[in-house]
Amino acid sequence: MTDASSRDLQHAAHLAPDTVVVSAGRPPRDHDAPVNPPVVLSSTFFGRGEVVQGDRAYGRYSNPTWDPFEETLAELEGAALPGLVFASGLAAVSAALSLIPSGGVLVMPRHSYQGSLAMAEQMAERGELKLRTVDIADTAAVTAQLGGADMLWLESPTNPMLEIAEVEALASAAHQAGALVVADNTFSTPLGQRPLAAGVDVVVHSVTKYLAGHSDVVLGAVVTSNEELRSKLLVHRSLHGAIAGPFETWLALRGVRTMALRIERSQATAGELARKLQQHPAVEAVRYPGLPEDPGHARAAAQMDGFGSIIAIQVKGGAAAADKVIDALQLWLPATSLGGVESLIERRRRHVNEPESVPENLLRLSVGIENPADLWADLEQALTAADV
Ligand SMILES: *Cc1c(COP(=O)(O)O)cnc(C)c1O
Repeated sequence: MTDASSRDLQHAAHLAPDTVVVSAGRPPRDHDAPVNPPVVLSSTFFGRGEVVQGDRAYGRYSNPTWDPFEETLAELEGAALPGLVFASGLAAVSAALSLIPSGGVLVMPRHSYQGSLAMAEQMAERGELKLRTVDIADTAAVTAQLGGADMLWLESPTNPMLEIAEVEALASAAHQAGALVVADNTFSTPLGQRPLAAGVDVVVHSVTKYLAGHSDVVLGAVVTSNEELRSKLLVHRSLHGAIAGPFETWLALRGVRTMALRIERSQATAGELARKLQQHPAVEAVRYPGLPEDPGHARAAAQMDGFGSIIAIQVKGGAAAADKVIDALQLWLPATSLGGVESLIERRRRHVNEPESVPENLLRLSVGIENPADLWADLEQALTAADV
């Protein structure tokens, strides 16, 4: 770590997260120095003599453009060590799963991000690990599966069912069983919850979503305060080669600058839309942790700052009606992914790998930062048009 980064990490302890997103990862305040970090395009770096871990040396080991983003992530997640940026969220997931010893046991939510589940299933088929899938909202059931486990995977809220895991209790139960705990914090972001403070060992992000925030970058990251784990993850990144491009990393840090504002807006709108959707006759069910009736509400209120900007609804009339709603929308964009400035909507079961426990008529809404009244007007007209 450079002097500048350790200074930033100390500084951050006194600053609110919505300040940190703006102030972290700046170059030193030298006269005429740029206020933003530059994009560095170089595949190799001057050096003589022995190369040790941590040396810049070569573009697969490190790039100066990564440093300010990795420091910013650490400050946001409350980590003692800089994060590690990866080529995608799934590259970060792959690195985290590599921490499981060969043939070890992974306990994972049945409604994890489908790419993470598919990767774990593929590793299980190859005999690289044993997979136990669980209802992550059921703390007793998860705890019962932890005997002999090597890793507990957490997602909260889950995708797309928005179930809430009891993060602190599960992390402590997993540690008692001798398992490492990894949390995919993509949905909540470090502004919504800090899993490391709740006892989680490693946090994984799809930076593609809220951190970058503009649907123009695919990127991932891992954050931990454990030096041994970080060192293993760094070796994995250097050897397996899923490294981030400097331009993408620069764009991601640029996106982080507005993350607090973006989420403040999209989260407020999501709460409003969830309540209105509950009242609409074409809607069978609404899942949003901010609704007092939601099964995850009390837990989310206790462990999160805000309830996020993702809503799941079930439309009356099954998959056909749900598809009709999507076709009738004019402002909402029919596309997968989430966490961008634009509002996106998708029927999740259109993905062949989506678990069958996700209802066919479930639409996932990623609420953006457009005018809330415009978003509601578009949803209302599309729901009414589809209500046959
Ligand atoms: C999108 C996503 C991922 C995968 O990230 P990519 O950047 O698409 O590789 C992992 N976890 C969650 C929760 C996601 O939403």
